Amino acid sequence: MAALNLARLIAAAADTIAANAEELTALDQAIGDGDHGLNMKRGFEAVRAEVEAFSAKPLPDALKAIGTKLVMTVGGASGPLFGTLFLALGKEISAKPDRANLTAAFGKAIEAVAARGKSQIGQKTMLDVLQPVHDALLQGKTALEIADIADAAADATVPMKALRGRASFLGDRSIGHMDAGARSTALLVRTVAHSLGESA
Ligand code: ADP
Ligand code: MG
Repeated sequence: MAALNLARLIAAAADTIAANAEELTALDQAIGDGDHGLNMKRGFEAVRAEVEAFSAKPLPDALKAIGTKLVMTVGGASGPLFGTLFLALGKEISAKPDRANLTAAFGKAIEAVAARGKSQIGQKTMLDVLQPVHDALLQGKTALEIADIADAAADATVPMKALRGRASFLGDRSIGHMDAGARSTALLVRTVAHSLGESA
């Protein structure tokens, strides 16, 4: 697996979220309260503001610092969940992860998100992207394949009925719209996959 340029990855993630914030807002407006784009943008800009300090740390500590910052700044339901994802990744990953370690750490991080959200796959949340990405990692898919799998997984939340989060208040009316957190997760997966792929 390619060495990770964390400073570049943080900048790329913040750029991606900023460029797609309006779309995330529109998705959350349809079946939520319309704050997901702004929530994510605020959080990732806060991480970007500390890119030098974070990227100077060993990878596990950097991921924990990113997670803590996201918990403090994203807000909403997604802040603690994305924060948990990065915090748990930081706890499990090694300083120079190979694919096996990344895959195992990512699996544990997803378990932590599911425990925190009391959620599971099929409920129209970010987990519906995270889990297929983990499966793809286990199956040895390439970075580009994984990015496409994440997009398809976000698309696959459209016909689902939301059973967690604000969208669940709508019941059947949540059907027919993509989950905002699934979309933001797919955007982040593509960004990570791209930077790991290109420096390979
Ligand atoms: P809020 O719902 O508080 O306005 P956001 O709009 O920032 O927060 O985030 C909403 C997203 O968070 C949803 O689209 C969904 O993907 C995710 N989410 C909400 N609740 C849960 C949960 N219990 N488990 C997993 N993901 C969740
Ligand atoms: Mg919202």
